[in-house]
Amino acid sequence: MTNDNHNLVERIRQRESEVRFSHTLRMVEVAVSLSECYGIDKELTWRTGMLHDIAKELTKDEMVSIAQKYGHTISETSIIYPENMHAEVGALIAEHEFGLKDRDALNAIKYHCTGRPDMSMLEKIIFFSDYAEPHRPNPELLQYLYQIAKTDIDEAIIRSLYERIKYQLYHNVPAAICELSNNIHDYLMAKRFGWDKSAKEENNHAELLSDKEFDNALEVVLRNGIGIHSVENIRSVGGFPTIDGRTVKNGVLLRSGSLSRLTAEDADYLTKTFGLSMVIDLRSSEEIKMSPNVVIAGVRYENIPLAELDTKRMDTLTSLYQHGETAGEKAWYLAKFSKIDALGKLYHNFFDDTFSPNAVKRIFQLLLEVDGAVLFHCTSGKDRTGILVAILLYVLGCSKEDIISDYTASALSLFTNAEKFKSVLKKQGYSTELQNNLHKILSVAPENLHAFLYDIEQSYGSQREGVLKAIGLGQHELEALRDKFLTDSRCADGKNAGME
Ligand code: FE
Ligand code: FE
Repeated sequence: MTNDNHNLVERIRQRESEVRFSHTLRMVEVAVSLSECYGIDKELTWRTGMLHDIAKELTKDEMVSIAQKYGHTISETSIIYPENMHAEVGALIAEHEFGLKDRDALNAIKYHCTGRPDMSMLEKIIFFSDYAEPHRPNPELLQYLYQIAKTDIDEAIIRSLYERIKYQLYHNVPAAICELSNNIHDYLMAKRFGWDKSAKEENNHAELLSDKEFDNALEVVLRNGIGIHSVENIRSVGGFPTIDGRTVKNGVLLRSGSLSRLTAEDADYLTKTFGLSMVIDLRSSEEIKMSPNVVIAGVRYENIPLAELDTKRMDTLTSLYQHGETAGEKAWYLAKFSKIDALGKLYHNFFDDTFSPNAVKRIFQLLLEVDGAVLFHCTSGKDRTGILVAILLYVLGCSKEDIISDYTASALSLFTNAEKFKSVLKKQGYSTELQNNLHKILSVAPENLHAFLYDIEQSYGSQREGVLKAIGLGQHELEALRDKFLTDSRCADGKNAGME
């Protein structure tokens, strides 16, 4: 260590408490190791990290007077949430008292609490390392994120943001701060998956699809749509070729939204036309209580909640929802608070705990227990149902393009629904931002599934056996699933070939 650096360490040690100083050292260690992975100036990273919390232990008054001294106006976000003020004041101290001149380094300190969408590599490293230093809660997760960060820091940040946002929501951190985290998430997802957010926000979600995505989804709906109107978003899954030259049979697996308004006539149609023998309801018990299914005589019913819904979070959401007096207010609460966990966590962390893989295992076993067709459903039949069907098609060996088309077909079925909600909000005078937010939850964005499939391949490679193993099933079950859902050979069954 040079003399300069030694002096810097001593000056910081004097200004920081022991606890703070050791956090700084651990954070710097993470940051420097990441700087090596990305070929970023190691020395500068070290100095930036050393100085990042230099204002952390000052009082609010002290920070305000330092800002005044250097002619700096405290930002809106620090006023709303003073816990973050040390970041921007820290940058001032680093510049004026420690002689740090590098703009990038000063920004990295300034934004180390909140981050911001278009961060430089040094900003990302400081932002992430501060979050992920090993003495923070949940060290296993942090270690896992750190491993990801070494080769893909955006991915690590996206994942860390889910935890961050969850923490912020639990601790009543002001919505504006949550929004910042959310914006970084959206920005990074956009960059990774080519999601053009502005196009997304201006248009309805059928128009969000590219021409090709739209055509593919339409093909699925035309081929697999089932003409009954008492069930939302209902279609058969099938017609897709597999890598081993077979085709997914049509009519053995059905997918839909809830069956709470199923008419006797439509129930009859399902049992007679498809030989429906089992319904698997993927909703939570709370959801079922609110909107119970119509019972179909002679059809086995199983309830296997698919995504683990964090109870505390759901309680908050439910109570917020109940507080809404008008449809518009209810929609507002949903728009504001459900997106992050409901879609983000569902898609992105699906395999991270054992809950969902265990549920999928049980469902796949059930599929093999019955003869006749099986119907999966959740509430609107797009997310949980969509993921489950995607996993099944993946394991059966369908192409990613087809899996995404099957998922995206929900956009065409649910189109009117999202439009309807949006117009309710509009009528009630809610802002375009909120209208769009709600629209995002109700929409079917192919990038969600792109992200999900990307996750699968990152974690298990492109081998379907890997996914099957993650679920806890083996070759034997795979063969049985293939026999149940695939034709004997490609186009053996003209009706089911579907690729004409
Ligand atoms: Fe800090
Ligand atoms: Fe820190």
